[in-house]
Amino acid sequence: MAEGERDRPKYLPLRGEELLIGLVYGAGTETALSLRLLKDALHPYGYERRVIHLSNYFPAMLGDPDFRAATSTATRQLQEFGDLLRERCEEKAILAQLAIYLIAAKRQRDNPSSRTAWVVRSLRRPEEVEQLRRVYGPRFILVAVHTPEAIRQRNAEERWRRWAPTTGRYETEATRDIRRDELDPERDYGQRTRETFSLADFFVNASSEQILRRDIDRCVKLIFGWPFVPPTREEQAMYHAYTGALRSSEMGRQVGAAITTSDGDLVAVGTNDVPSGKGGLYWSPDHPDERDFAKQVPSDSNTLWKRRTARELLLRMADQQWIEPALYIRHSREQEARDELDVTEEQLDAFLAGVKGTRFADISEFGRAVHAEMDAITTAARLGHRISGSTLVCTTFPCHNCTRHIVAAGIRRVIYIYPYAKSLALDLHSDSIELDPEDAAAVRGKVIFEQFIGVAPRGYPQYFGFGQTPRSNNRGNPVREPDPATAQPRVLQESGTFSFGGPAVPATRIAQVERQIVRSFRQHVARTPEVQIPSPAKTEDEA
Ligand SMILES: [Zn+2]
Repeated sequence: MAEGERDRPKYLPLRGEELLIGLVYGAGTETALSLRLLKDALHPYGYERRVIHLSNYFPAMLGDPDFRAATSTATRQLQEFGDLLRERCEEKAILAQLAIYLIAAKRQRDNPSSRTAWVVRSLRRPEEVEQLRRVYGPRFILVAVHTPEAIRQRNAEERWRRWAPTTGRYETEATRDIRRDELDPERDYGQRTRETFSLADFFVNASSEQILRRDIDRCVKLIFGWPFVPPTREEQAMYHAYTGALRSSEMGRQVGAAITTSDGDLVAVGTNDVPSGKGGLYWSPDHPDERDFAKQVPSDSNTLWKRRTARELLLRMADQQWIEPALYIRHSREQEARDELDVTEEQLDAFLAGVKGTRFADISEFGRAVHAEMDAITTAARLGHRISGSTLVCTTFPCHNCTRHIVAAGIRRVIYIYPYAKSLALDLHSDSIELDPEDAAAVRGKVIFEQFIGVAPRGYPQYFGFGQTPRSNNRGNPVREPDPATAQPRVLQESGTFSFGGPAVPATRIAQVERQIVRSFRQHVARTPEVQIPSPAKTEDEA
C-alpha cells in the first residue's frame, strides 16, 4: 500500500437519499441554464445540487497546463482530449469511472448532506450510461437536454466569432464542432453523443428558458413521486410505439411506431416484422409462422441477398479482369476446364469486411420485414382509418424509404427518439420535410420531424404507474402532493410500482460496487502512461 493510500480518510459510502443526474446534450447547448434550473427545481426539496464537470479535468489528466477554455478551439480540443483519454486507457467507459471516482472523493472530503443530487456533465458514450446504471441502478437518472439545431449552430458560431474574430468561417467551423460531437464514426473511442442522448430517462426542451423551466420542474416532480402529473399525448403515443417495438421478432433492431390523430387518439400501432398472407404481420402463435427466425432454414434475407449481390459483383469484375485473383477462385477441375470463376464464403466475408461503412454495406433493400412506420400506415389503410393530418410517433428516426411514404400519406408530424445515421431522409426529401424547426407552428406544407420530449418509454410505467394505490383520501378528495422538504425520491419508496424497472439497488450494495470502480479507476489510470489521476475540485459550475 502506498504512503498516500494509508493517509487517505476512510471511504464514505453513499447515503440513503443521494441521487445522480447525468446530463447529455449536443455541442452548442447552453448548459449553464440547465444547471441553474435544476438547482432551482431541487432547492424546495432540500436537495443540494453538486456538479461534476468532467471535461474540466481532461487537461490536468493529460498534463496539459496550457489549455485555455476561453478560445474558439476549446470545444474541439476537449472533444479531442476525451477521445484521447478513452483511447489511452483503452476503456470506453473511463469517463463514467472518472465521475464515480470524483463523486466518491468529494463525498469523502466534504461529507455533504444525504439529500445531495450529483449532476454529471456531460455523457458522450452509451458505455458511460451503462456503467453508471450498473453502479447506481435507477438512482441514476439520465436527462437529455434538447436544443433545436439552428439555436445550437448560432451558439457555436457565436463562440467562434467571440474568440476568433478574424477566422471568418464561423459557420463551417461551428458545423464541424456539432457534427463531430454527434457521431465520430472514424474513431473507435470517439464520441457517440446522439446515441447516448437516446438512452435518456427524461428528454427536456431547451428552446427557451420558460419551456426548459417547465420541463425540468415537471421532471423533478415525477422523480419525487407527485401523484398527479399524468402523461402527455406524446408520452403516451411513444409508449404505444415502444410496445410495437417489443412485438418485433426481427434479427436486427426492434422498431415500433404509432399513429395518432392530431388530438392524441390512437389510430394504429406498427412493428417491424414479416407480413402475413392474411394481411398485417404474423402474430404469435400463428400456424404456419414464416417469420425469419421461424423459417425452416432461419435466415435474415437481407444479409443473404447482400452476399449474393456482392458475389455477383465480384464475379463480373473478375470476368472483366478488373480485380486480382485474391477475390475469386476456380473451385474445381471442371470449373477450371470451363474457365468458370467462383467466390468462397471466406472471400465474401473479407470483401464485406473491407466495404464496411459504405452504402453497399448499409443496404437494407432485401429484408422481408415491413418497417414499423409502414406497418402503422398500412394497418390504418387496412382498417379504413383516415391518417391525413395525423402524427406518427416512432422509436427510431425513419429511413428514407418510409419517409417518402410518410410524406405521401399526408402525415403532418413525426416524433422520434433513436437516431438512424443511415437514413437519407433529409438529403432526399428536404423539399417536403423539415427537421426540428424553431417555430413548428410557422411551418406550412411540410412534414415536421421532431425530437421526442418527455418521459422515455422505459420510465413510463415507473413514473406514471400508481397501480392499486388510491390517490384520494376518505372524503374523496385528491391526496395531497408530497411535502417537498421530506419527499422521498420515487425510486427509494418501498411501495409503488417502481419495481417495473427492477427493484432499487440497496445503498450497501451500491457502496460495494462504487468502491470497486473507484479502485479499478485508480489502478487503470496508474497503469496508463501520460494520464494522471486528477484531484477533485473544490467547486464546479456552482452558480
Ligand atoms: Zn423504414
